[in-house]
Amino acid sequence: MNKILIVEDEKELANFVSLELQHEGYDTKVHNNGRTGLEDALNENWDAILLDLMLPELNGLEVTRRIRQVKNTPIIMMTARDDIMDRVSGLDHGADDYIIKPFAIEELLARLRALLRRIDIESDKNVTKQTTLGYRDIVVEKENRLVRRRNEVIDLTKREYELLLTLMENINTVLERDKLLEKVWGYENNDIETNVVDVYVRYLRNKIDFPGEESYIQTVRGLGYVMRS
Ligand code: CA
Repeated sequence: MNKILIVEDEKELANFVSLELQHEGYDTKVHNNGRTGLEDALNENWDAILLDLMLPELNGLEVTRRIRQVKNTPIIMMTARDDIMDRVSGLDHGADDYIIKPFAIEELLARLRALLRRIDIESDKNVTKQTTLGYRDIVVEKENRLVRRRNEVIDLTKREYELLLTLMENINTVLERDKLLEKVWGYENNDIETNVVDVYVRYLRNKIDFPGEESYIQTVRGLGYVMRS
């Protein structure tokens, strides 16, 4: 399922777009503010970002510029009819496409599909896919299933590795025990004893944490676990 981040301060429009995208089978998340939108854009992997130009705290151009310093996530800029200069500027800053407000939802969906298709084609051509994940001083080489911390290789079991990978692929997202059971162990019903997650988090901490230092994995009481940036 494609994950789409929507950053738009007009709440009605944002919610409308979000619902329409969900109806089309996309997974969506909305931010009404440039700064939190940027944080989420950087911390999670999105298939595309719909970005308003005029936003509180950080405008769309600045958000685009900062995303592009580290990521190539496709961006569609949403701009008002008269902001031609800004549209051009948005593309200069690295947006992939723009759509003029007010727009018909069908047009947005068509542009989004086209953009995702283009990205798919490009990534198929791309032989050297990004397979390295980093969190603080931990690096995971996905192809080699290798984990290093401060350049030392850490020996993990398959489950510990999957657990670490899942947490690192969802930085700043609190993962509930049920969710981790589903993702790491492949369990789909809730009857399974969720303590197994706590046990494995403990194993993992024993291997990756340094004694006396804050754990890489934080417990969110009553909910689950998260690695925070
Ligand atoms: Ca706006």
